[in-house]
Amino acid sequence: MSRLESFISRMTAQRDILDHVCVEVAKMEGLVLELGLGNGRTFHHLRERLPGRRIVAFDREVGAHASSIPEAENLVLGEIRETARRFIGIDAALVHADIGTGYEDRDAVTATWLPDLIAGLLRVGGFAVSGTPLDHPQLQRLPAPTSEPADRYFLCRRV
Ligand code: SAM
Repeated sequence: MSRLESFISRMTAQRDILDHVCVEVAKMEGLVLELGLGNGRTFHHLRERLPGRRIVAFDREVGAHASSIPEAENLVLGEIRETARRFIGIDAALVHADIGTGYEDRDAVTATWLPDLIAGLLRVGGFAVSGTPLDHPQLQRLPAPTSEPADRYFLCRRV
């Protein structure tokens, strides 16, 4: 599989999983947290799928398309490991983390802190959708609702 095909497969899984969980998230209370605003494509998608829901986005800096930049009060700049810590206990309904790099060594470092952070951000029953695996006793991995291969994108529920 070429890198282009792999990217398309990952984005397809991302879209499929987000669409699936948004139906469930719409039925529950709680913030949505977007870890890694990037270009703002998934932020834009979440905003469309969950109209009226507060979505707080995090990144080191603003690199998003002008149509996809959150209001100042919903944008948190800095290192996610530090900035999102302030939101622990917020009982979020959904945390979407798209901060994988495709480099095993870098993603291994992220894996040392991201799962614990996400477990602390979510309400019981809330969902985590992530580009990297989330190995944590309070995050139960669910089958990804997509026809793409299982390791493309990850879905967990806070237990
Ligand atoms: N989902 C986004 C979209 O659809 O446009 C793309 C996100 S992009 C792949 C990842 C973003 O996460 C980058 O903008 C990067 O700056 C940010 N990021 C990655 N690791 C981070 C960290 N530890 N702290 C803050 N931002 C981080």
